[in-house]
Amino acid sequence: MVSQSAEILAMNGFVAVIKRTRRKGSVGFKLSLGQVVVLAPKTIPKDEIRLLLASKSTWILAKLNAQDQLQPQTERHYVDGETLTFMDQELVLRVCLGPFNTGLRGVSELVVRVPEAKPDWVRNALVRWYKLQAQAHIEQRVSYFAPLVGAWPESIEIKTYRARWGSCNNRGQVQFNWKLMMAPSEVIDSVVVHELCHLLHMHHGPQFWTQVRRVLPNYQDAKQWLKDEGHRLGLD
Ligand SMILES: [Zn+2]
Repeated sequence: MVSQSAEILAMNGFVAVIKRTRRKGSVGFKLSLGQVVVLAPKTIPKDEIRLLLASKSTWILAKLNAQDQLQPQTERHYVDGETLTFMDQELVLRVCLGPFNTGLRGVSELVVRVPEAKPDWVRNALVRWYKLQAQAHIEQRVSYFAPLVGAWPESIEIKTYRARWGSCNNRGQVQFNWKLMMAPSEVIDSVVVHELCHLLHMHHGPQFWTQVRRVLPNYQDAKQWLKDEGHRLGLD
């Protein structure tokens, strides 16, 4: 699966997602689904982009406000042509008739096949698909980060939570909300690291945060993203 990795930048009043491009030269901005996306060459350091965004923040905030007024809520209808986020990608939903089956077509289309184009069926098929992706992706990220944290969970479970992203219990089991798969990959990583660090410290004290920051120095940006944008994750 092609997945371009993104970086998160928490600014004063908004959070931006940086997508690295192969192009040389200048930095581009766009507002996509109510979010600021920065297209920047790999050679430009994050701090430089931070300064650039700060200098444009009045303009960006005005644009974001205008967009919010145009579309106060992203209401989903589960019909062909709607867009969905999947980690660092934007996918176009394709609804086709046929036996139940859901999968990616190329890098930008998610095809949901249902016997009848009932929005409920499409939604349920999407939730099942996101859960499967979450299981595979998060297991892989746990394998990557566990040696860095120095703690391995007993089990990894994917759950549906309304108001939390992950959890960890004293039996060493970790749980993650599948809705995270609609967030940028850096945000998913931050929740993985957060829960793995709870295997070392079952609290949010200074020792816990020292471990989180040791593994992910940019944790704060991802945390801010979830605070600002988290309410938009999920399929209701
Ligand atoms: Zn916690």
